[in-house]
Amino acid sequence: MDVMNFYTDPAVIRSSVEKVKNAARDFRNQHQRVPVIMEVCGSHTMAFARSGIKTALKDDVNLIAGPGCPVCVTDQKAIDAMIGLAGKQDTILCTFGDMMRVPGSRRSLVDARTEGKDVRVVYSPVDSVTIAERNPEKEVVFLGIGFETTIPLLAMAVRKAERLNLKNYSVWMTTKLVEPVLRTLLDSGEAEVDGFLLPGHVSVVSGEKSYRFLTAEYGLPGVITGFEPVQLLSGTYKLVRMLREGKHAVVNDYRSVVGQSGNQIAQSLMTTYFTFSDEEWRGMGAIPASGLVLKEAYAAFDAKRRFNVTVPPQRKTACRCGEIIKGRIAPEDCALFGKGCTPVNPVGPCMVSTEGTCAAHYQYMREE
Ligand code: SF4
Ligand code: SF4
Repeated sequence: MDVMNFYTDPAVIRSSVEKVKNAARDFRNQHQRVPVIMEVCGSHTMAFARSGIKTALKDDVNLIAGPGCPVCVTDQKAIDAMIGLAGKQDTILCTFGDMMRVPGSRRSLVDARTEGKDVRVVYSPVDSVTIAERNPEKEVVFLGIGFETTIPLLAMAVRKAERLNLKNYSVWMTTKLVEPVLRTLLDSGEAEVDGFLLPGHVSVVSGEKSYRFLTAEYGLPGVITGFEPVQLLSGTYKLVRMLREGKHAVVNDYRSVVGQSGNQIAQSLMTTYFTFSDEEWRGMGAIPASGLVLKEAYAAFDAKRRFNVTVPPQRKTACRCGEIIKGRIAPEDCALFGKGCTPVNPVGPCMVSTEGTCAAHYQYMREE
């Protein structure tokens, strides 16, 4: 059997599910409750739901989603600012496809495009530099969302714009870092979790070492894992087994791509171009040093310094994405879930994003 077939083989999945259930039942016998595990990464959330594993484990392991979907954690104000920027004359606004339908206070970027604003979807930030090169008479702004996985790509875009000596290119940074948000969640006492499934792609950049604080300072275990069903189950099993045995370590179960120290080239790109900044998270407010902005030397590429954008007062909705990303509630606890809020008419980002918890529950776990 080749490796990929192994990762998705139904017989292996079935026996892995049983292993997790048995380990979780031992935990329940010890503690009179099921273990609570937070999957930090949005793609893990989606993969757990899509593969049916979340449903299969629902009585034995409480898998809760965390703040790891870059779209879901983007603050409403950032989207409003983008819509404001898109409204400026001679501006081309570029972003990832997932951001287009996320509602701001009143409108989304799709609405702005329908109204005639030049808003374009790109697959990579570097593509937005090419757009700037081809449109020297226009200001091209890239909406820079994402975690450690995406931030090096933003640095590469700025490096390319710098080498091309472009004067009409800038990035609106609203990026996020994993460690500060996990610390904030744990310090707040809001996340009642026994352990973490740690994000595969982020870890490729930041490395296994970057999670040592979890065990050293919070006494909690974590497992870095991949995205295929057998990898998800292997990571969950290792985590539940550690909980059952009272062990608190960070285990790297994704060694084929994640190293001890991460990707040094990506890290050096990040430290060359960016410096820490306080960043606003949806439903969580500003978290100190939880984002990155361009260093002074690259201020010319910083859209926040170049453009004065006024953001309208935020409109309050009944959307509970803020609580979803903190693992406080499940999507079904939101009164709008499946009624006023669906993937066709999303009210919040957790229903829009391909990594969003509400979208995952709506598509794969909804009870008719
Ligand atoms: S970018 Fe990768 S690691 Fe980060 S949330 Fe998305 S899938 Fe997970
Ligand atoms: S169901 Fe919709 S409105 Fe409710 S929390 Fe999720 S995205 Fe927000």
